Amino acid sequence: MTAATLPDRITGLLIDGAWSEPQSGQWLDIIAPAEGKPYGRIAGAQKTDVDAAVASARRALSGEWGQLNAAERGRLLSRAGLIVQERAEELAQLEARDTGKPIAQARADLAACARYFEYYGGAADKVHGDTIPVQNGYFAATEHIPHGVTAHVIPWNYPAQMFPRSVGPALAMGNAVVMKPAEDACATPLALADIMLEVGFPPGAINMVTGLGMEAGAALSEHPDINFISFIGSSETGVAIQTAAAKSHIGCTLELGGKSAQIVFADADPALVVPTVVAAITQHAGQTCSAGSRLLIERSAMDTLLPQIIQAFCEVRVVMPHMEGQLGPVVSARQKARVERYIQLADDTGLPLLASGQMAPELSAEGYFVQPRMYGPVPRDHRLAFEEVFGPVLAVIPFDDEADAVALANATEYGLVAGIWTRDSARAMRVGRQMEVGQVFVNCFGAGGGIELPFGGMKKSGHGREKGWEALREFAAVRTLLVRHD
Ligand code: NAD
Repeated sequence: MTAATLPDRITGLLIDGAWSEPQSGQWLDIIAPAEGKPYGRIAGAQKTDVDAAVASARRALSGEWGQLNAAERGRLLSRAGLIVQERAEELAQLEARDTGKPIAQARADLAACARYFEYYGGAADKVHGDTIPVQNGYFAATEHIPHGVTAHVIPWNYPAQMFPRSVGPALAMGNAVVMKPAEDACATPLALADIMLEVGFPPGAINMVTGLGMEAGAALSEHPDINFISFIGSSETGVAIQTAAAKSHIGCTLELGGKSAQIVFADADPALVVPTVVAAITQHAGQTCSAGSRLLIERSAMDTLLPQIIQAFCEVRVVMPHMEGQLGPVVSARQKARVERYIQLADDTGLPLLASGQMAPELSAEGYFVQPRMYGPVPRDHRLAFEEVFGPVLAVIPFDDEADAVALANATEYGLVAGIWTRDSARAMRVGRQMEVGQVFVNCFGAGGGIELPFGGMKKSGHGREKGWEALREFAAVRTLLVRHD
């Protein structure tokens, strides 16, 4: 097991451009999910700490940070991306230990992390307004201005990606940010914030407050001096965030959960569909918001494609983070108990178990490991058919024809992504354009990379868009200028 850990200089909270201990004096253990025991501690920020972080961001807007032009902001982000590339291996080791994911996945996450910095660094000076033709004697134009202080609350599943995905576009547009990373995995965001200090972000441009959601997260989202909230997490917490935003009359983006469908027609190419459908539910132990957790399969493919998917699923290996394999543990004892409740429900209600993954003999007995499971056919009214498990559990549901597939795919409260697998391109277009989701994949699947692709949900999966150019628009307000010159 790697001994990756946070550098000693990261002593708690990042406020006013320096690491400091929490005023509250409270600390939380950080636990390595594969080891099941603490390996460090983070500050347990309370309201006074959050007040200090928001005040620091506010000062930055009227100080050095607020004076930088767009090109200078972009250069800082790009520099941070270069350092991330240089230190990718040590950061990946930290991410693997902190989240439990296999090191190969952590390396891919760090490559995406560097790319976010690069993308938003390059974009900072390219967002510009319009001139608008109006009546004679007037000149009209728009500009995109920062909201001010933006609050960022992220989850524990892909912290190395979530950090730059959330703060990158906000900083590119000139906001000053306060982030509350997840208490279950926040080592890499802290290390990344430290890199941003190193490359010269002025004091207060970026502030970090670690702690519990109900304490630090609530204090931040309810703070009267923030101007926008960017949230990634569960639909339940999304309600609290949107309520807080409403009370302050500010905007928010919510990237929430999902129960995404893989729609597999009988003519799909097995070489493409088989490995991807399996990876889409086992990657990071199914703890991916866009996991393909429902396999909708054409009834006539039940005897052809399905056995191949079952075989590939049986070959999936649960491993320790330093090993080669498809997945590691889930993030916490709480998450393990949640996933096991769904497995128990499936077993108690007699759902046929089609496949289960392999557990490597090297697994630590204290780690939060869950054996991957594939059940089917799952009745359409079974909870496994429409509730998000957020674990390595795949529900197989057969469909009869194209119309049935569309209805079934849309028959959940969620609407994040959908995958369509067919060699018939007209059908792929027809079905794709009926999906009530934010992203549709045809003969491919995955939002893990896709830095350039707008990403976000419909329905209970949230609203607003992250990633790509769209994210820059979310972190700015349009100001219109009308000048009478005659
Ligand atoms: P969560 O909502 O419990 O926690 C997410 C973050 O919110 C954490 O930092 C947590 O501390 C904070 N938080 C919790 N309660 C809060 C409150 N009352 N006020 C303010 N902040 C609070 O979610 P989770 O269990 O950590 O993450 C899993 C969920 O996140 C899943 O449902 C998953 O689908 C979703 N998710 C969505 C995306 C996406 O992009 N759509 C990405 C990753 C995870």
